[in-house]
Amino acid sequence: MNFNIVLLGPPGCGKGTQAKMLTAKYQIPQISTGDILREAVKNKTPMGIKAKAFMDSGKLVTDDVVVGIIQDRLKEPDCESGFILDGFPRTVVQAEALDRTLEEAGKKIEHAISIEVDDAELMGRLTGRRTCRSCGAMYHVMFNAPQKEGICDACGGELYQRDDDQEATIRNRLEVYQQQTAPVIGYYRKKNILRPIKGTGGIEDILKSIEDVLQRKE
Ligand code: AMP
Repeated sequence: MNFNIVLLGPPGCGKGTQAKMLTAKYQIPQISTGDILREAVKNKTPMGIKAKAFMDSGKLVTDDVVVGIIQDRLKEPDCESGFILDGFPRTVVQAEALDRTLEEAGKKIEHAISIEVDDAELMGRLTGRRTCRSCGAMYHVMFNAPQKEGICDACGGELYQRDDDQEATIRNRLEVYQQQTAPVIGYYRKKNILRPIKGTGGIEDILKSIEDVLQRKE
């Protein structure tokens, strides 16, 4: 099936986890601006060097940088039969730029899935989050611990706590979300493609809710 999807929701709502599962199921790529930026930081590219300070403090990287990333990535052939945007758009300016880019290619976003979780729950999820340095798999010290502490079950890589998963930075990220990203939800609501999903409960239950939305005929 051919889907052009945006996954919305605050940091820690489970966008990345759901995007990975949807990718496996529908064979369409997950495009995460956060992953692309972290890779650029790791490789110390000019873009990575510029982005690092914003990311470490929980602020948003400038719209022109992330819009450029997405425009390049959407031209890749694997996006032809659909894609899942994870962590983009995060401002209304980005959402508008995305629509213009897609329109030029004769495409559009069909579903903006918004995963809803409250702030208290997000804080617990994010402070306990651990990420694999090699493959990007995510764990949680309490809810989804790896078999061996500090080691990725999937690839044996080292697990680490992202700099921006420290408590003070998380507060910033949640505030930035409320101020700059929450309006994107209204943007898609007006277009009648907003699909709110409850983001609490088991990972499989949430996936099922998303699949129900994707199968529904509008
Ligand atoms: P994420 O992994 O999606 O939580 O992203 C980590 C960090 O990368 C964010 O806190 C921002 O600093 C930056 N970032 C990722 N996506 C975007 C975006 N669409 N717009 C601006 N900054 C972004």
